[in-house]
Amino acid sequence: MCLPGWGDEFVVLCPGVPTPMAAVRLAERLQALVSKPWISQDYSITPSMSVGIASTDDPEVTVDELLRRADLAMYAAKGSDERSITIYDNVIDAQVRRGVLIKRQLQSAIDGDLLKVNFQPIVDLKSRDSIGFEALVRIRDFEGVWMAPIEFILVAESVGLIDQMGDLVLRRCLAVLKLTENTAPDLVISINISPLQVCREGLAGRMIAIAERYEVDLGRLAVEVTESVLIDRPRTAINELNTLRAVGCRVYLDDFGTGYSSMSWLSQLPIDAIKIDRSFTAGLLNHPRRRVVVDSMIRLSLDLGLNVIAEGVELEAQAEALLAMGCLRGQGFLFGHPAPFPQPAELLVP
Ligand code: C2E
Ligand code: MG
Ligand code: MG
Repeated sequence: MCLPGWGDEFVVLCPGVPTPMAAVRLAERLQALVSKPWISQDYSITPSMSVGIASTDDPEVTVDELLRRADLAMYAAKGSDERSITIYDNVIDAQVRRGVLIKRQLQSAIDGDLLKVNFQPIVDLKSRDSIGFEALVRIRDFEGVWMAPIEFILVAESVGLIDQMGDLVLRRCLAVLKLTENTAPDLVISINISPLQVCREGLAGRMIAIAERYEVDLGRLAVEVTESVLIDRPRTAINELNTLRAVGCRVYLDDFGTGYSSMSWLSQLPIDAIKIDRSFTAGLLNHPRRRVVVDSMIRLSLDLGLNVIAEGVELEAQAEALLAMGCLRGQGFLFGHPAPFPQPAELLVP
């Protein structure tokens, strides 16, 4: 029996399904039926469907509890790229609960302006002067402990809070840039932009409008994007990045080397610099083949007229090896951990 749920959610009740695998097969049949394309006003529409499955032979489990479990499994299915059909288990329960708590924390951090932005120096590898800072966002979890972004960025993306969060981070950075206008006019602050933000039209316009209110020269701002911006809507991403570059904002390609067919994208993306992912920096000294890859990345980028920043520099020997290969900029714990922005007097910007 199929009962309408809320909005685009439906409940399928099927007594007598012998095993969870039989339920999966049923879900696959439903998916195949639902995802048949149909034409509306000359557009071909191909619906997709995420399915959460919960079953029990325990008479103590109520119908409400069973529905709750199916609901949690469905949300896990929705949030997963690989498992559009998901069977409920306790791990999902814990994950979804944590997701809900993180969403609450994030919302209250945004509402109460309680996001923290840390800054990590990007240095000139020769002089070791800071030439810029990367802004890295933090929020507290429900026990008051600062969480790393890996924990909450995905949640922010999936519940539609990424734009609000991104705008707040931008405002903090603009405030810092304003504050250092005279003491460190050449300072560049870079902010991370989620692929979801840059693949929708309007990001560049909104950022420019916010920056105008702060009267900050956008030549002192950079955005960091990853190659994944090219997967979904490459045209939109490229347009948005071009609009930002037209007003002076720089574009850095983050985590370079970890994405898809990296080399070919380099010639297509409107970028000013690449950031070599820290996994390459980490392997530099002990893995000769990695060293060759890093060397080629640096040479290719320089040949394309791009700046190169090595991420995750932790050892003096790594900094020296990078410099010898022609990489002039670095970022990593060797030069400084992410921390509140230094007071203008402490800044070592040339
Ligand atoms: P990312 O942009 O590649 O940022 C660099 C990450 O590497 C930061 O982690 C930083 O703390 C860490 N790191 C820097 N130097 C070293 C080092 O020498 N060794 C090691 N082991 N790690 C180092 P963090 O702050 O946890 O950020 C993780 C990711 O979260 C960032 O990776 C970025 O993709 C994302 N992120 C951070 N802030 C924001 C934000 O405001 N918006 C969005 N959309 N994403 C953000
Ligand atoms: Mg980054
Ligand atoms: Mg990175």
